[in-house]
Amino acid sequence: MPLVVRPSPIHSVGVYTTTAIRKGSRVIEYTGERITPLNHSCEPNCEVDEIKGRVWLFALRDIAPGEELVWDYNLYDDEDPAPCYCGSRKCRGTMYSREWMAKIRRREARKKKKLEAARNGKTSNKYGRGNVPSDAPAPSRVPATPQ
Ligand SMILES: [Zn+2]
Repeated sequence: MPLVVRPSPIHSVGVYTTTAIRKGSRVIEYTGERITPLNHSCEPNCEVDEIKGRVWLFALRDIAPGEELVWDYNLYDDEDPAPCYCGSRKCRGTMYSREWMAKIRRREARKKKKLEAARNGKTSNKYGRGNVPSDAPAPSRVPATPQ
């Protein structure tokens, strides 16, 4: 399959086909380093599949000559930001999978709840929730040295 590496509007460089590729056909064996510049897109035209221990790139639809080959990374198990700039109408804004993003959002919500509960608990120990008297001592406001 005649493929070329060219600058890509998505990220640095990408892999482009110079000929038409039919839907469902095997594009190239994915050996990692050889096609590393293959970019992520939330609206991919390729997918990666394993056959007998070898990983192949397949065309998800008919691809025209000159198109960039992209697949959906669907990252997971990490929390470092992985913003997506694919520019497709279906862009999720991240290279993480939908399932993983939902998991992270649930985890964040739980963390926030816990934090709020801890904060509210602290206040109610002394004066009750939201009921701090105006004459409560504020030692931090007292100047350390008399003026
Ligand atoms: Zn995207």
